[in-house]
Amino acid sequence: MAILPVRIYGDAVLRETARPLASIDGTISTLAANMFATLKRYQGLGLAAPQVGLAVRLFIMDASEVAGVGEPTVFINPEIIGTNGEAIYQEGCLSFPGVYFDVRRPRQIGVRYLDLDGREHTIEDNGVLGRIILHEYDHLEGRLFVDTLTEQDRRNVEAAMREKGIIPPAP
Ligand SMILES: [Zn+2]
Repeated sequence: MAILPVRIYGDAVLRETARPLASIDGTISTLAANMFATLKRYQGLGLAAPQVGLAVRLFIMDASEVAGVGEPTVFINPEIIGTNGEAIYQEGCLSFPGVYFDVRRPRQIGVRYLDLDGREHTIEDNGVLGRIILHEYDHLEGRLFVDTLTEQDRRNVEAAMREKGIIPPAP
């Protein structure tokens, strides 16, 4: 397994709409394994394929160690099949190192997806797993959690990232 370089805010691939996977083969299993190794290395809860430079509809989630819930899961061609309610949780993102803020999203979600064997599954959740799934799903649509901020707050996040040298200085 390999640790993959994680794309940082500003990288164009993070704004692409990811394409569905037409087939699930060994290269996809290897990608998922490498993404789990990368997630563990950075102690994240979820990681989407565009974050490692591939605009395909796949993300992984593992909150079992950090949050003590769920199990390592690969989501291929996921579809959000329902949402309900509203909740505010603090989120982070491996493409925004050191950045955390509150995000309002639906409280309850349902998702349908394929696993690495091509089998279909459905998960419903109203806690941290649902929150991770919504955050990662957004990556497949080219949406990022800073998009939920006001223009001013987003500029503040960018300024803080520049100050720490995480993203290049403004032109
Ligand atoms: Zn993210």
